[in-house]
Amino acid sequence: MANRIAIYPGSFDPVTLGHVNIIERSLNMFDHLIVAVAVNSSKQTVLSVKERLDLLEQILGSNNRVSVDSFTDRLLIDYAKSKNAAVIVRGLRTVSDYEYEFQMAHANRKLDPQIDTVFMMTESHYSHLSSTLIKEIVRYGGSCEEMLDPSVEKVLKAKLQKS
Ligand code: ADP
Repeated sequence: MANRIAIYPGSFDPVTLGHVNIIERSLNMFDHLIVAVAVNSSKQTVLSVKERLDLLEQILGSNNRVSVDSFTDRLLIDYAKSKNAAVIVRGLRTVSDYEYEFQMAHANRKLDPQIDTVFMMTESHYSHLSSTLIKEIVRYGGSCEEMLDPSVEKVLKAKLQKS
């Protein structure tokens, strides 16, 4: 059987341990996982694309079954096709995640029925965890223990606690 390549797209602003958990579990299902930073040039982020890619590399770099990449202002489905990926991986935490993901998965199937979306349910202790929440916690000096890799916490603190 051909190598099963999957793509895990997201903003990763920043990558959290909730994301890392989805990545590790995806590797039990697929031969190769491309973690892809989806860049939308009209969307504001705290971390630059390079910072997000560097942090992902630092955390995941030692595993040769994972690669880190980005794509800008492009349909995910076209990017997936260009990488020969047959599967898109997404994580689910809440009912509101589900509603959004349901819509996206249907749209993507319509655009290319050869590519499937696989959903992975969050580990319960990461179900409250989002990049948005993390940024609030770090900005106001809260503890991110068990939410972020220390390298991510350091970079985020330097960015958000400047003043
Ligand atoms: P996006 O802007 O595409 O939603 P995110 O970086 O916020 O990008 O998330 C990427 C994917 O990871 C999404 O499918 C999201 O639902 C999932 N995800 C984010 N945080 C968690 C978590 N704590 N547990 C499981 N899945 C998560």
